Amino acid sequence: MMPSQIPVAVLGATGSVGQRFISLLDNHPWFKVVALAASDRSVGQRYADAARWVLDVPMPEYARDIKVVPASPDCIDAKIVFSALHTEVANEVEPQFARVGAAVCSNASSYRRSEDVPLLLPEINAEHIQLVKYQRKNRGWSGCIVTNSNCTSTGLTIALKAFDEAFGVKKVLAVSLQALSGAGYPGVPSLDIMDNIIPNVANGGEEEKVEWEPRKMLGKLNENKIELAEIIFSAHTNRVAVIDGHTVCASVGLEKSAEPEVAVQALRDFKAQPSARDLPSAPRPVIDVRDEADRPQPRLDRLTGKGMTTVVGRVRRDPILDLKFVVLSHNTIRGAAGASIYNAELLVNENLL
Ligand code: NAP
Repeated sequence: MMPSQIPVAVLGATGSVGQRFISLLDNHPWFKVVALAASDRSVGQRYADAARWVLDVPMPEYARDIKVVPASPDCIDAKIVFSALHTEVANEVEPQFARVGAAVCSNASSYRRSEDVPLLLPEINAEHIQLVKYQRKNRGWSGCIVTNSNCTSTGLTIALKAFDEAFGVKKVLAVSLQALSGAGYPGVPSLDIMDNIIPNVANGGEEEKVEWEPRKMLGKLNENKIELAEIIFSAHTNRVAVIDGHTVCASVGLEKSAEPEVAVQALRDFKAQPSARDLPSAPRPVIDVRDEADRPQPRLDRLTGKGMTTVVGRVRRDPILDLKFVVLSHNTIRGAAGASIYNAELLVNENLL
């Protein structure tokens, strides 16, 4: 099959992440959207009527007249299914698609911790995708589920990979400043977030994710298992009045200490894994290091590399651990829809559809 003919569907198409999928899949060189699914609230309506469009780019023409269908394999015939469903819905729905042969590329947290499900950031752990072969055997599925991490871990983990390769990472203290689009739509009430910072995301659940998911992504594939990276994480997660772009202020303890200039060079030299380099959504560059004392900033830097690049700045000595830095990543592009599309491209490239 020519890549341009691969039929794909989006589940949760009307939501915050779903809209990013619709936008990023417009004129995708390999994928063609054949179905859009959402809840009973939207089913039967034209997409343009069902979705309250919140992106600052126009709704693509191709999506406007597609009739929204239920998130069920009975209503959707697609080789790749992008899931922007909430966890409780994804728990049930994603395996139904994998069972009948679809490759489910999921944003939900439902299966991230499953031992036979890859948690991917192709630029740093593309080889983890091989777990899919074991997953198929293990579960008797002709399709599969592959996942991307929570949006706060994404940029942090990519920066940590560059440091881990160069110096070895032992400890991480991370404080997030997370954008509102990460809470979906309508999300956090305006009277809660204007003139304010909320020092709690997802009732503490986000901190657990930031302390665990990077260890799987930075782990090693050993036969049919990922060995978690031996790194101690401590996370504080905060919601701030920014629309898009999660910032994380991090301090790291290293095995081999490094001067800030050497650390900056390690970030600048970092390259995506070879199998993930030339895919349509590959970040170009993977990491951008800003030299200015007041960058990265969400409003100025979140669209670096079409929102797929991880932006790092303020790399300096940490008097308690070794280094500290600030990292920014677009939460609904690199941290969500763009991540799943990149994962799907890797599946195609590895002949794993
Ligand atoms: P959201 O804005 O609340 O959207 C939820 C979507 O799911 C809507 O399209 C909704 O359709 C649909 N839906 C709800 N119940 C359904 C059901 N029973 N069957 C089918 N569709 C149903 O949420 P979001 O922020 O886009 O998040 C989606 C997922 O991505 C979550 O698992 C989230 O944790 C994850 N994630 C989000 C981000 C981010 O930055 N936002 C980043 C990484 C991961 P209706 O419009 O019809 O109700």
